[in-house]
Amino acid sequence: MTAADARGAGLAERARRVIPGGVNSGQRSIPGLADLVITAASGARFTDATGREYVDYHAAFGPPLLGHNDPDVSAAVAEAGRTADLCGVGVTPGEVELAEQLCELVPSLEQVLLTSTGSEATFHALRVARAATGRRLVVKFQGCYHGWHDSVSLNVISAPDRVGAHDPISTGILPEVLDATLVLPFNDVAAVRAAFAEHGADIAAVIVEPVPHNVGCLLPDQQFLQALRDETTRHGSVLVFDEVITGFRHALGGWQQLSGITPDLTTLGKAIANGYPVGALGGRADLMRLFSTTPGAPAFFAGTYNGHPAVVAAALATLRKLRTEPVHEHVFALGEKIRAGLAEVFAELDVPAVVTGYGSVFVSYLMSGPVPRTYTDLLRNDVGMFIGYRRRLAEHGVFELPLNLKRSHVSYAHTAADADRLVEATRAAVRDTL
Ligand code: PLP
Repeated sequence: MTAADARGAGLAERARRVIPGGVNSGQRSIPGLADLVITAASGARFTDATGREYVDYHAAFGPPLLGHNDPDVSAAVAEAGRTADLCGVGVTPGEVELAEQLCELVPSLEQVLLTSTGSEATFHALRVARAATGRRLVVKFQGCYHGWHDSVSLNVISAPDRVGAHDPISTGILPEVLDATLVLPFNDVAAVRAAFAEHGADIAAVIVEPVPHNVGCLLPDQQFLQALRDETTRHGSVLVFDEVITGFRHALGGWQQLSGITPDLTTLGKAIANGYPVGALGGRADLMRLFSTTPGAPAFFAGTYNGHPAVVAAALATLRKLRTEPVHEHVFALGEKIRAGLAEVFAELDVPAVVTGYGSVFVSYLMSGPVPRTYTDLLRNDVGMFIGYRRRLAEHGVFELPLNLKRSHVSYAHTAADADRLVEATRAAVRDTL
């Protein structure tokens, strides 16, 4: 062990003494990475405490669409730090500007509220749907993740024998809360129609990641999203698009702009502020006005840090760049280049793989057969090989999260040379793994 390795291991050991498991999110508790201490991040790279640098395609689960520490975003945050601070009363000019831009860009947004995280946004979406309809049930889809709160903490990455049953991702959830969530297969129109036929009058909301990126990438059939729109409208339920990942990353107006299907409510997060903690919930004004930000309205909504000036400044700087520079062109072109290059390498090495994704998001499922459409298709992925390949990639200085089904992201800071490096590292890593 080098002195640098020992320094990293020492810090990780100190972390484990005072932070349970040594990390601040269950999603960062990754087998094999217990000693990973990150000391710096810039552009498309991060550095660990041993001084090793990685080209980062994990990208913190998606927020830094412009790359880590984007200079314009960092400057805007520094300026906000000099001139503003959280006052917790009234509204700031930045919040007004940001809300106006969000409502202008995202088709479903007539009004919008800021939160600090995506989970808070999805929590409040379901609360207001229940407040508006007086109904109990929520529908979600196997493989979708909507945050850590109880109504949605089930059936994300389920073992084969748990698909089709309730599969909570946590203990400590009341059974009656789990029972109030129906879990359906993604892209299955018949299942949606059947659920509405049986429970329609009790369904408050359907919440869906229009592209379930929490299991890599399942592209939605247009008729599936249309069926969600039609059934929720017919039965008076609230349709929620959780665009925490797809919003701003795939298009300024999110997947709803690309698909032309407008939900009643939309949740946003991640890419809005390029890594600063923000979420947003917006949609139909008649629903949004039920929140207690309107005097006398019944659905409680609060958050000490909502609309924090530094975060709002980060979001405004991010949006300015997304609107004025060819960010989407760049990340889409690199995404295409990476998908094509990876597919070629896997074919050349005769390793069964489905390289898929959309725009700046990519994932290499190590399995044969057609492009997956629903969660059960992903059970064909060779988990050991998927994780082994990514561990080897890290040894070649390229980081994709070594956890089953996780997607990877390209940012504006990645270059064509970075893409080539990933492809070459893949060639070496796959050879090592075989
Ligand atoms: N919704 C989706 C689609 C997500 O991917 C996530 C987080 O990964 C969330 C909601 C929750 O967001 P947060 O982690 O900011 O609470």
